Amino acid sequence: MLPKCCMLVSSNSGFRFTSVIFLLISLMIILLRSTLVKSFALSSKAPVKQGTVKIIYSPKFLEHKAPYFHSECPERLSRTEEFLRNVEGLEWVEPSGSVSENRLNLALSLVKKCHLESYIKEVESIARSGGGGLDFDTFIHPKSYDIALLAVTAWLDAVDSVLMENKPAFALARPPGHHATRKRGMGFCLFNNAAIAATYALTCGCERVAILDWDVHHGNGVANIVEDMSSVRYCSLHEFGGYPMTGPSDERGKEGNLLNIPLPSYTTWSSGYGDAFVQSVIPFLRDFKPDLVIVCAGYDALSSDPLASMNLTPADFRTMTELLKSEFGSKIMWGLEGGYDVIEIPKAIRETILPFLS
Ligand SMILES: [Zn+2]
Repeated sequence: MLPKCCMLVSSNSGFRFTSVIFLLISLMIILLRSTLVKSFALSSKAPVKQGTVKIIYSPKFLEHKAPYFHSECPERLSRTEEFLRNVEGLEWVEPSGSVSENRLNLALSLVKKCHLESYIKEVESIARSGGGGLDFDTFIHPKSYDIALLAVTAWLDAVDSVLMENKPAFALARPPGHHATRKRGMGFCLFNNAAIAATYALTCGCERVAILDWDVHHGNGVANIVEDMSSVRYCSLHEFGGYPMTGPSDERGKEGNLLNIPLPSYTTWSSGYGDAFVQSVIPFLRDFKPDLVIVCAGYDALSSDPLASMNLTPADFRTMTELLKSEFGSKIMWGLEGGYDVIEIPKAIRETILPFLS
């Protein structure tokens, strides 16, 4: 059985080759890819390529919406797209799932590694039967199953951008994922994009993948899925006492691979967030020597966010990227999680990627 990442670079016509030729080509690709990833891993930092950040976005992500007012709304993306189109140096690409059935199949196979098949079928069934919800605030639009798979491909493309092109990438996608556990979605999240992306990276030659979650809420779903994966480290900064009331500081996971940093409401960068980031987050990630850093990029820690009470500014996200860049070079990708102030999110995302632009 060939690794799934082979499917990424095999075109549809690949399946029409003779089995021997296909096998040889696939083996060459695996070797080449593995060598590329290993060469990044051998250096403590990947060289930084200035002026190049990939934004993976599709207008199809706007079609995932609730039939009533909901904070997790399409405007979070549409306003960000409008704002970022004026930023020079970005490379805009559609997620590969928009044009490749193979990529959607790959995404589904990875979703199955992170979620129970019965849960995946439930999401599909609710969507195909006209939509509904998993709970009072986790809606499923008739197109949400397909859009959630498309979003997964956007996160996979971001992984590829870093591993294959040494180019940081931002998956500007919905629905978000970090609350979705192995058994069930919740908190606006359907499939756990970050855990799926990490699982994918491990099939592509990475030996260690770090997930940093700066969404203001604890990513209980990521923790649930990766807690027994010694090759993945997960670190979450979140508001103490906030949804979903998980992520205590003494929870370290079965493999000691979790780090939770609950912070009091109204914490600013200078009143504790910055110290936590520099003194706890960075050493935890640095000691792991990750081949890839996946950021669960939520923006509900902004002071203006209507659903939380943390006090970060857009500029603080730039500072966090600068700190990550100084440690990990270009081995960084981001994927959108929460954040509900549609005016401030675009500014904060621009600040997030700015350190890599010329
Ligand atoms: Zn959140």
